[in-house]
Amino acid sequence: MSPAKTFAVSLLSLILAAAAVAQTMHLNSALTSTSGGDAAATKEAPKLEHFDPTAIDKTLDPCDDFYKYSCNKWLTANPIPAEEVFWSTGSGLQLWNESLLRETLEAASANDPKRDPVHQKIGDYWAACMDESGIETAGLKQLQPALARIAALKSKKDLTLEIARLHHMYPGAWLQSDNQTNAPFFGFTGQQDYDDASKVVAQIDQGGLSLPNRDYYLNTDDKSVELLKKYRAHVQKMFALSGESETQATADAGIILELETALAKPQMDNVKRRDPKNINNKMTLAQVRELTPSIDWVAYLKAVKAPASDHYIVTSPDFFRAEEKLIQEHPLEHWQTYLRWQVIHLSAPYMTKALVDENFDFFARALAGQPEMQPRWRRCVRAADRDLGEALGQAYVDRAFPPDSKARTIQMVHSIERALSADIQSLAWMSPVTKEQAVTKLKGIEDKIGYPSHWRDYSSVKITRSSYLDNAEQSTSTEFDRWVAKVGKPVDRTEWTMTPPTIDAYYDPQLNTINFPAGILQPPFFDFSQDDAVNYGAIGMVIGHEIIHGFDDQGRKFDAHGNLRDWWTADDGKQYDERGKCISDEYTQDVPDAGPGVKQNGLLTQGEDTADNGGMRLALNALEASLKQDGKSLDDQGPDGWTYRQRFFLSSAYSWCANVRPEIARLVVTTDPHSLPVFRIDNVVSNMSEFQQAFGCKAGQKMVRANACRVW
Ligand SMILES: [Zn+2]
Repeated sequence: MSPAKTFAVSLLSLILAAAAVAQTMHLNSALTSTSGGDAAATKEAPKLEHFDPTAIDKTLDPCDDFYKYSCNKWLTANPIPAEEVFWSTGSGLQLWNESLLRETLEAASANDPKRDPVHQKIGDYWAACMDESGIETAGLKQLQPALARIAALKSKKDLTLEIARLHHMYPGAWLQSDNQTNAPFFGFTGQQDYDDASKVVAQIDQGGLSLPNRDYYLNTDDKSVELLKKYRAHVQKMFALSGESETQATADAGIILELETALAKPQMDNVKRRDPKNINNKMTLAQVRELTPSIDWVAYLKAVKAPASDHYIVTSPDFFRAEEKLIQEHPLEHWQTYLRWQVIHLSAPYMTKALVDENFDFFARALAGQPEMQPRWRRCVRAADRDLGEALGQAYVDRAFPPDSKARTIQMVHSIERALSADIQSLAWMSPVTKEQAVTKLKGIEDKIGYPSHWRDYSSVKITRSSYLDNAEQSTSTEFDRWVAKVGKPVDRTEWTMTPPTIDAYYDPQLNTINFPAGILQPPFFDFSQDDAVNYGAIGMVIGHEIIHGFDDQGRKFDAHGNLRDWWTADDGKQYDERGKCISDEYTQDVPDAGPGVKQNGLLTQGEDTADNGGMRLALNALEASLKQDGKSLDDQGPDGWTYRQRFFLSSAYSWCANVRPEIARLVVTTDPHSLPVFRIDNVVSNMSEFQQAFGCKAGQKMVRANACRVW
């Protein structure tokens, strides 16, 4: 996985990879690592789910809880395995994809001098990752140079170069998620300029935390306090495992909690960060230096080989002001402890069983509720996908994504884009001048299906069989350099920030592209063997969702060229905000699955919820047009005794059936802009008269919302 751009929005961080959410929010799915001794794990082909009308629970009323009606039998028959934090109809696909990748990796790992460079890299990466006994033998030796360097720092002036080294080396140290970067002290990368999307400039982001976001340090409810206590114990254990005495480790854990909490306080929260205007703070280098004089920015930029930037975007100046004060207030020894913690924490997934187990125990078990670790082969497959994804992904595309699948997907994308064009024209609340702008933006969307038009070159990444940690660091530093080197260069419109086998999709507002990796163009989302009603219900909703992201509360602020520019008349903007508020009010709701008193913040999820609602409607309209071409209508009888309209909604719900552990539900509600699966169906259909028509629902029933919301 590549670093997500600040405003690129994905379909699902939940199904993306349990581990990605469950771990430290580094989008680093390898973090649950431990040794599992499972080299001989079963190789039987995992089962793909296909839309199954017999799973519908006809004893229930579709107008009372449509998600339950559609999913109940499946949910009962498919409890969550111990090594997962959720289990969904898409989970079989996750395993299926991983198994294909494993076969490719194993075949490439034979130490054959005749291998081509691509197979050498992915094969040796796999061999080093699977070599648990080699990793045990190496012990903590590999951390010694970094720890010795940190111990030798003479003054706070020396901190800067060490920060640059950590950013450059450690997987997950700088990757940005929707909310923040977890990089030590701050994040740094190349980023398209918000006002002029043709330019790449340097962006400096708030960072420094190890927990998913600021709330985890600052919330005062019982659950949060208890989790923070467990985190303190975890930090203490990690220090002890790295060789510190109990007394020292306890004192050091106290320092980490104190520093990270102090860094959490001044961070901009994730709702405020949703508005690009709030983070688009342009500064000159002189202003950046003035903001945080304790960081030697000239030395930092030189160390990370950053080209000169037209200006610097500082996402959260308040954070940097506070960080400056903190650096001044705390003695050097505290910052040495902080850097030591970062080295141990960030390298843990690649280290010995003791570190891997302890890391899992907190970040997966306590934080996400995952009882058991996944087998090592799965963790190594995902690490290889993250670090060498476009090398590994080529074989996946060859095996799993035939040209027929691509052609049919493109057809669906075009028909859904036509549906949005018609929808825009039909809107009573939007003026003709804004409609024209909206259509221009829609026409400007570039559709990327399956895989990139040319593959990334990994020739400069040095991969050997001898060290998993080295390989991960090599990949990270090459990727870090690649992003930083973009500064001042023309924008590459062809590249992807998801690898081909990824089960997800995204919209990038600054490139104005929708992107559907081959990994999600598989059952139960896209199913070549099924009719249009099933496909528009499942992947069609996903396609509509990504297109609508160009027109949600965040996406609508960018124009067809990806520039942050207000193309709305004042009155249309006001009309939009009223409709958006209906959505955010509706989704500010209790989440019983996450525990008593847990409430979703509809302001955080508004963009995703708008995309779900609009996406479902567009997909239905596109299905109607497709049926019309065959002389049929939505309410005609289709296969299995359902009308096409019913089949559409049933397939959509089926593709979202998911059992979710309460801990991960809580994590999603706190940090994730996506609603939980049940709401992605029930809230959406209860806003749609088209649904009520399908199942004959009447006013007063739960799936008929009195105050139905509609933006698109
Ligand atoms: Zn989305």
